[in-house]
Amino acid sequence: AEALKKTSTEIIKKLMSFGVMATVNNDVDFDTATIIAEEYGVKTEKAVQISEEDILFDDIEEEDESKLVPRPPVVVVMGHVDHGKTSLLDAIRSTHVIDSEAGGITQHIGAYMVKAKDRRITFLDTPGHEAFTAMRARGAQVTDIAILVVAADDGVMPQTIEAINHAKAANVSIIVAINKIDKPGANPDRVKQELTEHGIVAEEWGGDAIMVPVSAKKRENIDQLLEMVLLVADMLELKANPDRQAKGTIIEAKLDKERGPVATMLVQRGTLKAGDSIIAGSAFGRIKAMTNDKGTAIKSAGPSMPVEVLGMNEVPDAGEIFYAVTDEKVAKHLVEKRKYKQKEQQYKKSAKVSLEELYNQI
Ligand code: GDP
Ligand code: MG
Repeated sequence: AEALKKTSTEIIKKLMSFGVMATVNNDVDFDTATIIAEEYGVKTEKAVQISEEDILFDDIEEEDESKLVPRPPVVVVMGHVDHGKTSLLDAIRSTHVIDSEAGGITQHIGAYMVKAKDRRITFLDTPGHEAFTAMRARGAQVTDIAILVVAADDGVMPQTIEAINHAKAANVSIIVAINKIDKPGANPDRVKQELTEHGIVAEEWGGDAIMVPVSAKKRENIDQLLEMVLLVADMLELKANPDRQAKGTIIEAKLDKERGPVATMLVQRGTLKAGDSIIAGSAFGRIKAMTNDKGTAIKSAGPSMPVEVLGMNEVPDAGEIFYAVTDEKVAKHLVEKRKYKQKEQQYKKSAKVSLEELYNQI
């Protein structure tokens, strides 16, 4: 009525003429509103729903293209048990240390960065597929590229197929590392053949899948594999804006007896700074200390960088999305609201409960 500059009584009458019984306290749906507006020659347009969180998290507008800069790819290694995932991750880690950190011992924080051809690549260190599934369950899109490890002496196995399905469902690019080529029984062609049965066809066979024969044990062809990762990264045109509030994903988190909650976070947008206040699910806090994958204290971390963070009030869940917010009070307030919403939903689901009881619970 307000927008149409009519009295509410007139609009109610109009609604009634269309068979809609309404009082001033009722909402009408968009289609009904459109029909009524058209009666007065007025066009309707759906308003974009913006939440308070969207505004605080600086999550409303599309990213300004001109502010986007290339970011390192985030890679996960998947494959059947014993096909060499851990060995490959170790081989990559030890052969491609970042120069400035040479000699620094990699801490196992769940992710690490390496350098190849003067560019950086982030690897998730998480064994198995569970973490991947946990992250996807929360809607977090963390990885860009999956390296599918298939042992050349064993071929495609159940968990190989599982990995393919995971990667496809998550819409990540697959690069196949045909591992253990040093073994006498190695048969890379058989692996290629078996993979075609799952829709992965090697480039040299007319498909578009990149396959690299490697030996994690002998550290053979690791360079070539990483070059292929960079090639795919270029094709994906991975970019992010480092110049805004940080947003990313919790890779893993634990409670340390001395240090309290410790969380490994992957920055995906913006720059995370020591001293920032953050919120991740129902956890919040102010960053007391931030270290990189070498255990070195750092002041800021840009897109695709994994960091270990101290200062959260509780241990956040892996896969949870984190946001840097303007101050800790805001973070605390938001977390309280989130917790309240959760409780409310639980109660709505479980049983009829009075509002009073609900307030007493929180
Ligand atoms: P994961 O279960 O996929 O993490 O596999 P691992 O990395 O633990 O490797 C399983 C076994 O295969 C170990 O005994 C490794 O030493 C061996 N292995 C891994 N890569 C190679 C390789 O390139 N060549 C050979 N000969 N053995 C390998
Ligand atoms: Mg392993």
